[in-house]
Amino acid sequence: MLDIGSLRDRFQQRYSAYPSIIVRAPGRVNLIGEHTDYNDGFVFPVAIDRATCIAARSRTDQTVQVVSSDLNEEDAFSIDHIERSSRPWHNYVRGVVLALRVAGHPLAGADLLIASDVPRGSGLSSSAALEVAVGYTFQLLNHLNIPGKELALLAQSAENNFVGVQCGIMDQLIAVLGRADHALLIDCRDLSYHTIPLPPSVAVMVCDSHIPRTLAASAYNQRRQECGTAVQLLQQWYPDIRALRDVNEDQLTAHEDALPEPVRSRARHVVRENRRALQGAEALKRGDVAAFGQLMNESHASLRDDYQVSLPDIDLLVETAQHLAGCYGSRLTGAGFGGCTVSLVERDAVEPFSRDLLHTYRAATGRTATIYVCRASDGVGRIVDNAGPQE
Ligand code: ADP
Ligand code: MG
Repeated sequence: MLDIGSLRDRFQQRYSAYPSIIVRAPGRVNLIGEHTDYNDGFVFPVAIDRATCIAARSRTDQTVQVVSSDLNEEDAFSIDHIERSSRPWHNYVRGVVLALRVAGHPLAGADLLIASDVPRGSGLSSSAALEVAVGYTFQLLNHLNIPGKELALLAQSAENNFVGVQCGIMDQLIAVLGRADHALLIDCRDLSYHTIPLPPSVAVMVCDSHIPRTLAASAYNQRRQECGTAVQLLQQWYPDIRALRDVNEDQLTAHEDALPEPVRSRARHVVRENRRALQGAEALKRGDVAAFGQLMNESHASLRDDYQVSLPDIDLLVETAQHLAGCYGSRLTGAGFGGCTVSLVERDAVEPFSRDLLHTYRAATGRTATIYVCRASDGVGRIVDNAGPQE
């Protein structure tokens, strides 16, 4: 957990006044439903207990001053004239403020101080945590009434259009809507969702492989194209389908011979993964963690064999985890070609699980992985009402 007292003091030292609010927005990990979001399908993330906090107070002019205490860098810009910066991190803040303005919200300037314990660039979505924290900060400071889904869409539009990263809506939506001890089944077509409880005896273990994700961007775009090709070809028989979300396994089996490889395998992954996400949510609703874990394992095999976004060292992490005591299931999470794995593990087994997984991975690859033991947490919120000095 971030030290809120220290955040408040750093704000005071920098701006010579205490913040009026402190806002917190979490990172996330997706438990199942991978590469389904851009196919209008289902995802099943949890907000984690690592978050980006922003201490803030309004100004009387139109200037926004920003300190990232994580990067030890600053930015300043005017709300009336927001341009893209050559420093990438500036654009996450500027982009959200611009998106709020474009949506017609009146804004005053503000002093901000950002501090986060979401690792940056590891696949736990520090970017969405930052965007959503910025959006919510301005919402509170300016007394705006912005429904949660709209806040998520504004944050996503900032990342898509201002930062220039083509992400789906999952990261921002879970950063807004996450709930302690629950996962969210999100329908990426209409953004409707269900909260499903996670048993308190189970830990969400994230393992960062620290493999550089050099292939990720080009492969991601290629996979998206292949899914589009599958839809076009399948429309010969099912003219009403708009995305792979609209195709069930029987329909795909009936015509898969007409799809060339690798389009056929890609479609098979997406169609089955949507089914697994729905079945997984049902299993957890029944409290059947073992069935959920089995679906996670099947998801990984499909990402490895059909979607082909895994790597041998990621497979090693996943297969090692799957065989360790207390582990219900393990899989690659995120877009792939490196990044993180996620495992569901009995809380009692967390320590030996971590030790053995790190040891096996280091012995085989020479790399030191990082493990984050996570608990499902609440989405964005205000953590301090009056953020002045404490007694
Ligand atoms: P991920 O979302 O998986 O962590 P991204 O590459 O999408 O990785 O986003 C990481 C980027 O977001 C960082 O390189 C930085 O530009 C920005 N960012 C995230 N958190 C912070 C922070 N606390 N301070 C400044 N910039 C941040
Ligand atoms: Mg990101």
